[in-house]
Amino acid sequence: MAGIDIEGLATVYPNGVRAVDGLDLTVADGEFFALLGPSGCGKTTLLRTIAGLESATEGTVRIDSIDVTRLEPGKRGVAMVFQDYALFPHMNVSENITYPLKVRRVAAATRASVAEKTGDELSLQGLLERRPGQLSGGQQQRVALARAIASEGKVLLLDEPLSNLDARLRLEARTFLKKLQKDLGITTVFVTHDQAEALALADRIAVMQSGKLRQLGSPREVFARPANTFVANFIGSTPMNLLPGTVGSDGVTIAGGSLPAATGSVPAGAEVTVGVRPEYLTLSTGDVSGPAVRGSVVVAENLGTQSLVTVDCDGTLIGVTVPEEDEPSPGTPVVLTASEQRVLVYDKESGEL
Ligand code: ADP
Ligand code: MG
Repeated sequence: MAGIDIEGLATVYPNGVRAVDGLDLTVADGEFFALLGPSGCGKTTLLRTIAGLESATEGTVRIDSIDVTRLEPGKRGVAMVFQDYALFPHMNVSENITYPLKVRRVAAATRASVAEKTGDELSLQGLLERRPGQLSGGQQQRVALARAIASEGKVLLLDEPLSNLDARLRLEARTFLKKLQKDLGITTVFVTHDQAEALALADRIAVMQSGKLRQLGSPREVFARPANTFVANFIGSTPMNLLPGTVGSDGVTIAGGSLPAATGSVPAGAEVTVGVRPEYLTLSTGDVSGPAVRGSVVVAENLGTQSLVTVDCDGTLIGVTVPEEDEPSPGTPVVLTASEQRVLVYDKESGEL
């Protein structure tokens, strides 16, 4: 088992695109680490650079404290699962799983027992003689994982491994993957553009934008306290409210009302962007004392057990989630409140906390 240390890493393609643009991060031994960001932000390039499939232009990659920056992929001790699985169509499942062992000239009898054991771990019993074309998407995905695990790499690199599965199967595979990773205890870097997937799976998440790291933290931290408006916009299944506001003496003024906020060193009177998640706002229909924002309900959307209510507050639309049974009807006058630590104040220009 092994950690990964990345220092000052940049990967520049021949066409001049700096797909990874000066990145420092450490993945701990045994950690399930997610790389999250929009399409084109450099996730695949970073993963391929760790694997040695792209060469670093600047900086270093260490795996298990060994500098592998100039080492060929086969010597880095990494196992990678590609987005399209990259299974060999002419080989059966067993041959696919043990191909990396065959390359290393491991004896056929040993390979057969590894295929059996890994096949069991990944619920592929009874499928070992089939070819990839005779498997469902979910089964192909598990074969790709099995092949990576059977290769006994020190770290597992997964590039959007669930993205080709349909919604239901994807949730099942997600749970399966989380349990497998915990059972094996293998250091795993998981790439995804799906914030819900990253929040559900990872011990820690690195949020990337344009080849750079915008925040690194636990799912709880990046959800509850996004470090900037980019992360605030990207994380969460309902969009975070990001509203123009002004710092007051003990909070912020927004949408014709006010909310408590830890404004830190930001001077009173400063124009800021106020961030508050719909989940952290409280909606009341009666009167409320203390700082609050008042408005009337525009529309409510059913999210299952919760409803997302859009409230027009002095011309500004604010989202708030409520238990489904408390959903107010359009036109209802309502009051929104929040506790101080839930109201974040971002610099209006830089978007940073
Ligand atoms: P992601 O996986 O986050 O979608 P990628 O790592 O695939 O992002 O791509 C990052 C950037 O690098 C994009 O601008 C993409 O167009 C560019 N890119 C990716 N692969 C190549 C390549 N082989 N040659 C040139 N540019 C590339
Ligand atoms: Mg990609």
